[in-house]
Amino acid sequence: MNLDDTIVAIATPAGRGGIGVVRISGPEARSIAQSMLRMGGVSELQANRAHFGELIDNVSGERIDEVVATFFAKPHSYTTDDVVEISCHGSPVVLRHVVEMSLARGARLAEPGEFTMRAFLNGRIDLTQAEAVRDLIESQTLYQAQVAARQLEGSLSKRLQPIKQKLVELIAVMEAGIDFAEDDVSVIPGEQILARIATIHGPLEQLLASFAFGKVVHEGLTLAIVGRPNVGKSSLFNRLVEHERAIVTATPGTTRDLVSETVSIGGIPVRLVDTAGIRTALDEAESIGIRKSMEALVDADVVLVVLDLTTTSGDDFEQDFDLIEKTRDRARILVGSKADLHTEGRGIITKRLSTDSQAEPGVFTSAITGEGIDQLRETILQLVRGDTGVQQERGFLTNVRQHGLVQNAVEALNAAAAAIPLSTPHEMILLDLYNALHALDEITGATTADDILNLIFGTFCIGK
Ligand code: GDP
Repeated sequence: MNLDDTIVAIATPAGRGGIGVVRISGPEARSIAQSMLRMGGVSELQANRAHFGELIDNVSGERIDEVVATFFAKPHSYTTDDVVEISCHGSPVVLRHVVEMSLARGARLAEPGEFTMRAFLNGRIDLTQAEAVRDLIESQTLYQAQVAARQLEGSLSKRLQPIKQKLVELIAVMEAGIDFAEDDVSVIPGEQILARIATIHGPLEQLLASFAFGKVVHEGLTLAIVGRPNVGKSSLFNRLVEHERAIVTATPGTTRDLVSETVSIGGIPVRLVDTAGIRTALDEAESIGIRKSMEALVDADVVLVVLDLTTTSGDDFEQDFDLIEKTRDRARILVGSKADLHTEGRGIITKRLSTDSQAEPGVFTSAITGEGIDQLRETILQLVRGDTGVQQERGFLTNVRQHGLVQNAVEALNAAAAAIPLSTPHEMILLDLYNALHALDEITGATTADDILNLIFGTFCIGK
């Protein structure tokens, strides 16, 4: 990709609006913008200033719009090149015309993401930060935006940095042992290499574990509400939907048997699925509903098993406990519903859960009074966060690319560690370590040959 040309694009969404912005970046940005503007006596755009002016049609010389042009001089701009942003009134026709005038003056249309790509290629941001820009724009909840903003600040890169540093140091020591074996540089013993690999491996494993939460933050999760007919699933569903602000951009999906709605719980997009009542099928039509709810259960990340607190004996009661058995190995929350009605139910069900089923205690809710709904919400969040809660302030893996690369790094380290007891030559072990380093570098998009050289010749006294 050519980095020396000047690119242009409409930066605001398609359609009409109060304001629309055209962004121009590259060496000719300033002259291209100036040539289509009349700025009341000022002929040159000043760095880091917003200029009020008129947009002039180059053929007729007529004024097309009133605009504000802001010039960000190289290198203090989004892309680090000269950037001009022209804010027009938000008419698609005017915006397109500005782009066309820019093209006529030598700019070319920017590729998708090219402004951010330039910021990356010019070294202002790394790949994780570039990904964060995309995540920030695509965020559906404020929490997702905050997570992306932290990554944009470099939280993941900062977490990776010391891990990578240790790996680079190990590589440097081993390289030195090979290259300068005759110069009295002692070769590092195998157990020391293993110990050093362990200090790199541990934090990488923690990072891998953070992906479970990162994925949930990023992609949200599906929560299926299951239980016998009439236990209060729909009422609970409605409570949760009404209590939490529904996510505007999500598409609600309603089928005959499954109703779903996406809400934000603690900033995490949660798709709630209300399933048809689960019980032994009596006829054909019903079995379709039950099959669907079983499918929903399989697809769900978290299952809310709803038990009716007013049912404390009989077949229905046994069916409830059947369902508790069936969902034992799932991430689930047991919910005792209709808590406003029958208070003895709590005691009976709690006792049976702890004795016969040896299950976790349930949350008691009432769709009528709203009791327990906040607690349920908190329980859902706790289940999702797991023990990664502390990591939220630090960087964590938020996408499959990052996760795959950390996994590659861990595998390469494992291969290196496995080779050491076999007295494998260090040259071979180094290949694995370089593979691990390469994977970590790919996460941020860095290259490191120079880092290693600097370390070998900078921190070791072998220059005699
Ligand atoms: P579903 O078939 O499991 O979806 O159950 P519904 O949500 O349709 O509820 C079945 C019946 O229980 C309805 O008559 C509801 O009004 C009633 N119900 C549901 N939740 C509660 C609750 O928390 N308290 C009381 N008193 N009644 C409830």
